[in-house]
Amino acid sequence: MENTSAVSLEANEVSGASQEASPTTWMCVLCGWVYDEEQGDPSGGVPAGTRWADVPDTWVCPDCGVGKSEFIMMQV
Ligand SMILES: [Zn+2]
Repeated sequence: MENTSAVSLEANEVSGASQEASPTTWMCVLCGWVYDEEQGDPSGGVPAGTRWADVPDTWVCPDCGVGKSEFIMMQV
């Protein structure tokens, strides 16, 4: 029986854009909300895959409203 072939399909690389640098996540020091570069913040106008450096300075934490300077990097 070979019914397990479909399992690996879901693990495909996300568009395989630029994978040289490992994605990082950033955590809000005030409320603990986490920004994941792979997921972005679509509801906040930041598309998935946006690197932290490319997140506009006008972007704020969706939970508590602080700016980027209040976030700390989390190595994954
Ligand atoms: Zn916050």
